[in-house]
Amino acid sequence: MAADTNIFTDKQTNNWFKACIALNLTKDGLTDLVVTELLNVQTKVGRSCGQCFIQNLIPCPTQDVCKKRKGNNCSFHNSQQPKSCQTCDKVKQNITLLHRFKGPSWANTKAELWASDPWEIGKCYLPRDGYSSVSSVQESDFNGVVSIVLNCTHFQTCLSAACLSPPPPDKQCPLEKVRQIGRDVRHTADCKVTDADLQYFFLTLTTLLADPVRLLHDTPATEARVKLSDEITSKSWIELAPINWTYRAYHYCSHISTLSRTFAPLKYPLFLAGDTEVTLLKGDIEIAF
Ligand SMILES: [Zn+2]
Ligand SMILES: [Zn+2]
Repeated sequence: MAADTNIFTDKQTNNWFKACIALNLTKDGLTDLVVTELLNVQTKVGRSCGQCFIQNLIPCPTQDVCKKRKGNNCSFHNSQQPKSCQTCDKVKQNITLLHRFKGPSWANTKAELWASDPWEIGKCYLPRDGYSSVSSVQESDFNGVVSIVLNCTHFQTCLSAACLSPPPPDKQCPLEKVRQIGRDVRHTADCKVTDADLQYFFLTLTTLLADPVRLLHDTPATEARVKLSDEITSKSWIELAPINWTYRAYHYCSHISTLSRTFAPLKYPLFLAGDTEVTLLKGDIEIAF
C-alpha cells in the first residue's frame, strides 16, 4: 500500500476491512453448529482410553508427522514411543474414516483428551499447520472452522447436498469457494477488495449461512446473516466504530507485517503483543487482530 493511501477514505481498503468482518461474522455463524456436531463426531468415533498420547498411536516414521534429521531421533516421538492400544487405534481409525481425504492432522491433536474434549477430535480435520495450540472452536479462525466442515464427512448430514456438489476438492464446490474467499482476503498483497468481489463474498457467505438443512433456523447463523446484510449496506466501518470498540477481524500471523505496512505511514502507535495479536490504538478506536 502506498504511504499516502488514507485507510479512512480509500473505498477498496474499506472493502477489505468489510471482507475481514464478513469472514469473522461467518465464522461466528458456523461456530454453534460445529461445536454441537463435534459432540456427535466424538460419539461416532468411540471412546478412547484417555491414557494414550498421539505419539503412542502413530508409527515412526510417519510422513508429514515425524521430524527426523539425519543421525537424530524423531522430534515428534521424542517424549513418547509408539505402542499398541486397541481401544485408541480403533478411535484413530474411525477419525480417519470420517476424513474426506483420509489424512487427519495428527500433529495438531492431543489423543489423551479425545474422550473428554470433542475439540481435540475436531483438530484432526484442521489444516496441518498452525492450530496445535488453539483450544476451542471459538478460538479458531474462519479457515479452521470451514476446514472442519469441509474435511469431516459427518458435516454432510448438516448441509444440503448442493453445498458439497461437486464434491471437494473441486474448485466449483460451494464450500470450497467459501474457503477460497478466506484465502483471497488473507493473502491480499495490498489490503484492497473491489466492489464486485465484495458483493460476491457477501453473497457466497450469506448463501452458506442460509443453508436450509440446519443453518437457516440456527440462531447464531441467522444473527450472522443479519449482521452481514447490515455490513454490506453500511458506509464505512471505521466511521461507525463506537468508542473503545474492539474488533477481532483476523488473527493470522501473516497479517502482522501487512498491518505494520498499512498503519505505520499513519504514525499511529502500533503495539505488537505476542505472535498472533496486533493492537492498534488510535484515540478511542482499538482494533485487535
Ligand atoms: Zn489408548
Ligand atoms: Zn516419529
